[in-house]
Amino acid sequence: MELPRKILIGDGVIRDLGNFVTDLGVKNVAIVSGAVVKARVGDQCHESLANSELKNVWFLTTAANMETVDVIQNEILKNGSEVIIGFGGGKSVDVAKTIAYNLNRPFISVPTSASHDGISSPFSSIKGHNKPHSIKTKTPIGVLADTRIIAGAPRRLLASGCGDLIAKVTAVKDWELARDKKGEYFGKYSSNLASMSAKIVMAESKSIGEDNDTSVRTVVEALISSGVAACIAGSSRPCSGAEHLFSHALDFISPNQALHGEKCGIGAIMIAKLHDIEWEYIASTLKDTGAPITAKEIGIDADTVVKALIIASTLRPERYTILNKISLMEQDALELAKSTGVI
Ligand SMILES: [Zn+2]
Repeated sequence: MELPRKILIGDGVIRDLGNFVTDLGVKNVAIVSGAVVKARVGDQCHESLANSELKNVWFLTTAANMETVDVIQNEILKNGSEVIIGFGGGKSVDVAKTIAYNLNRPFISVPTSASHDGISSPFSSIKGHNKPHSIKTKTPIGVLADTRIIAGAPRRLLASGCGDLIAKVTAVKDWELARDKKGEYFGKYSSNLASMSAKIVMAESKSIGEDNDTSVRTVVEALISSGVAACIAGSSRPCSGAEHLFSHALDFISPNQALHGEKCGIGAIMIAKLHDIEWEYIASTLKDTGAPITAKEIGIDADTVVKALIIASTLRPERYTILNKISLMEQDALELAKSTGVI
């Protein structure tokens, strides 16, 4: 079990980045971020690292693909940085995490939005390898989440994070199913931790949608807990079931359309109905947080939804889910999407 050693969440904690890194025993850091993040908070980071006398070099990412990973990785090798900080939303964190894994160096996650649980999990999504889903790379040694920076990110990102969290309801159901049908290992602790992250966000969905600072902290804490659940399980099982396969299928059919958590949330509504659980509650809490609940809201048409439901289980054959138990034909998929209001 590899877990983050240090987690710091709070308003303005980016000012403590230098001390945070020093406490982890390193002197020489590489920061990986996008240009917007660097322009927004780069000065504060530099100042904090300089105050702690930490040498640092900054690399800019444009895309989460293997090419970006290779280019930055070679630079870091030349430069000899001891630790890699992934600073940003999805892309930069995923690129930094993958490089840290490839070079076997510690990785620190500094999220600037709360849009998915990759901020604390050992999984990253990089385009250009042969898997459509995220792959296991490096568990962050530390997570520093400045809620002021995260609150300043577009609300759509926070709502997407809620989608990724509410999706744990169906992910855990699929894991239970795999235990019962396939005798798969099932982690009680990690599944409970993932379920709890979903429950808290569902219980507070209205206040999250109403936009206040406490709700940013709630979502960040839930995302970190859910990433830690994956660390404890040693797999993405507690966090990713058929609803994630549906999201990966959409990525495959209609690339770069909508956010990960938005697609997982919509997937969770339909997968919950297949599991015969509270799908209406899932849909209403998603809506309360501001997350989309229809395909139209994310620019996806009915045919694509149906196709994605049909091919989802083929994208990751080893992951047993409700889509293996109930094999959907075109008409079934259409009815499921219609009856849940997704299309
Ligand atoms: Zn996810």
